[in-house]
Amino acid sequence: MKECLFCKIVSGEIPSTKVHEDEQLIAFRDVNPQAPTHVLIIPRRHIERLTDLSESEAELIGQMQLSANKIAEQEGIVSGGFRTVFNCGEGAGQSVWHIHMHLLGGRPMHWPPG
Ligand code: 5GP
Ligand code: ZN
Repeated sequence: MKECLFCKIVSGEIPSTKVHEDEQLIAFRDVNPQAPTHVLIIPRRHIERLTDLSESEAELIGQMQLSANKIAEQEGIVSGGFRTVFNCGEGAGQSVWHIHMHLLGGRPMHWPPG
């Protein structure tokens, strides 16, 4: 996707601070962090929104959470608690149209998230 911000991060056209990369995924620090640790985990492949996922991508989503768990370990945020969040659609706050899992931690998390 030529005009997609996160595809440009995947290709390296836009720089990012990566904390993990593998065949399917990359993870990098959010430019506007909402917690001491705020990492975005994204598939290399362009998928616009969660509701575009197909059955064949079930494992991809599972891998995203497993990566988040490993990054949470690396960041030392497991014992204090962490949160993973997908925003789907404008009403939920999605602003980049390439699916991404937010990993947030390093401070107390409140509920409901608002
Ligand atoms: P959304 O609001 O779509 O759930 O999350 C998009 C996230 O991407 C936001 O938290 C925002 O701060 C982050 N973001 C937007 N542009 C960039 C960028 O160029 N680099 C990085 N690292 N994060 C970005
Ligand atoms: Zn994209």
